[in-house]
Amino acid sequence: MLKVKNISFGYKKSKVLKTVDFSVLPSENVSIIGESGSGKSTLLKLIYGEYDLDEGSISWKNQSILGPSHNLVVGYDFMKYVAQEFNLMPYITVEENIGKFLSNFFPEEKQTRINELIEIVELIEFANVKVKYLSGGQKQRVALARAIALQPEIILLDEPFSHIDNFKKQSLRRNLFGYLKKHNIACIVATHDKNDVLPFSDKIIVLHKGVILANDAPQVLYKNPKSPLVASFFGEFSVLEPYGILYAHQLKLVEHSSLKATVLESYYNGNHYLVKATVDDAIVFFESKSAIKTNDVVCLEVSKS
Ligand code: ADP
Ligand code: MG
Repeated sequence: MLKVKNISFGYKKSKVLKTVDFSVLPSENVSIIGESGSGKSTLLKLIYGEYDLDEGSISWKNQSILGPSHNLVVGYDFMKYVAQEFNLMPYITVEENIGKFLSNFFPEEKQTRINELIEIVELIEFANVKVKYLSGGQKQRVALARAIALQPEIILLDEPFSHIDNFKKQSLRRNLFGYLKKHNIACIVATHDKNDVLPFSDKIIVLHKGVILANDAPQVLYKNPKSPLVASFFGEFSVLEPYGILYAHQLKLVEHSSLKATVLESYYNGNHYLVKATVDDAIVFFESKSAIKTNDVVCLEVSKS
């Protein structure tokens, strides 16, 4: 497994990561979530061996992962890393990029493998297009296919779907994470999108200012978000005494109750409206089947189920 043992690191004097400690089992899907600047990308780069640690150690299956001062060529065969800035070759085609690291020894097998990968990232119609003509999202898909081409044991993905539009995102996630699970490839995903996480992750690590705030299964973190920061990752919420953190769907509109809310605004959200309101001095969010007029007073009930 991957062992990240009490690592600390700073680009300059101040530490970007502070005694970060966790492990990842083979075939496990672990998400790293946290605000911009919390240290997600830095953590992935350290795991890849791009920088020397100030303190601590990183290993995969008892092999130490060393920074550039101990390891001249960054990277290991068992690990692939897809950076936020994917480094593709612009003047060769999608196929050629994806097959770049595959052996030329058995051309037919190589082509079969390329076809399989192109299908996973849904780029069949672009197979022979030069990468420089692709959109950002299409390039990101090429980078993902190239990273899994040689079946790494562990893959590091930095916001892997950030450039990909919503039309393609859903199926691409299922294809990619399904593929990784099926082939027992461990994966660490830095993301700020809960849809990358909830359906696919075995564990979520919450990073805040370089410190791990939580490390739990999605079900555990979602049910008991512990802090507003964690709750905000999953959706709109209220902090209401004596109940604590409540997601919008946990505040229900009822005919009568002592919990009175004054409506500020209703926002259309597809299958419901998200309503922003005040309860005494607190701002709350709840869901409603229809829009509610500003200044209307409604009754709410807490339902934590
Ligand atoms: P995230 O990926 O969570 O947005 P990063 O790991 O990119 O966070 O950045 C964490 C902190 O490190 C930020 O304050 C950022 O400004 C700083 N940082 C990132 N890369 C560098 C670098 N190459 N040199 C100096 N500071 C950096
Ligand atoms: Mg980042």
